[in-house]
Amino acid sequence: MIFKESERLKSIPPYLFAEIDLIIKKKQEQGFDVISLGIGDPDIKTPDPIVKELCKEAANKENHRYPSSYGLKAFKIAASNFYKRRFNIDIDPEKEVLTLWGSKEGIANIAYTFINPGDIVLVPDPSYPVYKIGTMFAGGSTYNMPLTEENNFLIDFKKIDIEIAKKAKLMHVNYPGNPTSAICDLDFFNELVNFATKYNIMVCHDNAYGDIYADQKYKPVSFLNAKDSKEVGIEFYSLSKSFNMTGWRVSFAVGNSSMLSSLGKYKSNVDSGVFNAIQYAAAAALDNYEEYVDLNNKIYNRRRQKVWELLDKIGLKYYKSYNTIYIWVKVPNDYSSSSFAKLLLDKANVVVTPGNAYGEYGEGFFRISLTINDEKLEEALDRIKNVF
Ligand SMILES: *Cc1c(COP(=O)(O)O)cnc(C)c1O
Repeated sequence: MIFKESERLKSIPPYLFAEIDLIIKKKQEQGFDVISLGIGDPDIKTPDPIVKELCKEAANKENHRYPSSYGLKAFKIAASNFYKRRFNIDIDPEKEVLTLWGSKEGIANIAYTFINPGDIVLVPDPSYPVYKIGTMFAGGSTYNMPLTEENNFLIDFKKIDIEIAKKAKLMHVNYPGNPTSAICDLDFFNELVNFATKYNIMVCHDNAYGDIYADQKYKPVSFLNAKDSKEVGIEFYSLSKSFNMTGWRVSFAVGNSSMLSSLGKYKSNVDSGVFNAIQYAAAAALDNYEEYVDLNNKIYNRRRQKVWELLDKIGLKYYKSYNTIYIWVKVPNDYSSSSFAKLLLDKANVVVTPGNAYGEYGEGFFRISLTINDEKLEEALDRIKNVF
């Protein structure tokens, strides 16, 4: 029997990556060796000491019972120490940290925590799909804040309709950003806090790529470095990309204690916390972050240079960013994002993500992900070269 999905679920477009997976599978069934530069999921393994810590803690029967929905104390202390060392920000581990099942979960559930049907949420475009979809699930409406090349893919606060700003309840922000790879500076975050304070808007900053940078010169700041930021918002810090832990499902939110307490209240009704052994291992990751982050950044740097070299050679323009695991490339004239992605798939058996999948302002671009081993990456680049 086939049962009807809820109207809410039916209104959601298919998840982008699920669709890409289907296309790849079809090609593979036809016997093609497809290389995907489409998905942002590190190929590098989680560092051994973190895995060892998990194994040790998994054997401890104290950890076999329900964890707290609000997070393990040892993990919250590690998160607080990490924010002090990494960003020089003081965080109260009791009131200003909340453990999450990954930032995706937190971003989706923040909508259920605060958004009523009809409420307006400001969302960057192009951006990570969960900002919009989470809002839609909760019955809210989204207002696009275009990220354009002319403005270095930063939100232009002056362009936000004042009547919309007055009504808006929440804003999603993401720097270093997916898919554009753009970063912002402290002035931008200060401007964001001023805007949010003036219009009484909650800020949710998604810091999923804060520790992926080519060298110290490009080390990003945190939203919480901005003055009075804790008054208006929270930041999601994910361990997924910086520590190659996407499969572990652990991250945390820091900042405004009242927002976190409400999100925790919501979560305590729908989930039962992250396995304590995982939180102990995640704490060990944060405690030694310098070592792990440096190792990753060397690898991504090498791959980034390789891709830049090829793009220069074949004459494709791209946004030169030293952050994130992505390269945001312009499609050549006469192509749309989708038609160019399709061309690469047909002619080179290489998958890239069409920019319009992240919103209408992503049209004219495609995204290359650096999460594939060097050998495969070179093979993919070679194939792309032959299309030109
Ligand atoms: C990958 C990604 C996430 C997901 O983080 P998890 O902690 O694995 O849920 C969140 N935001 C952005 C922008 C991402 O690219």
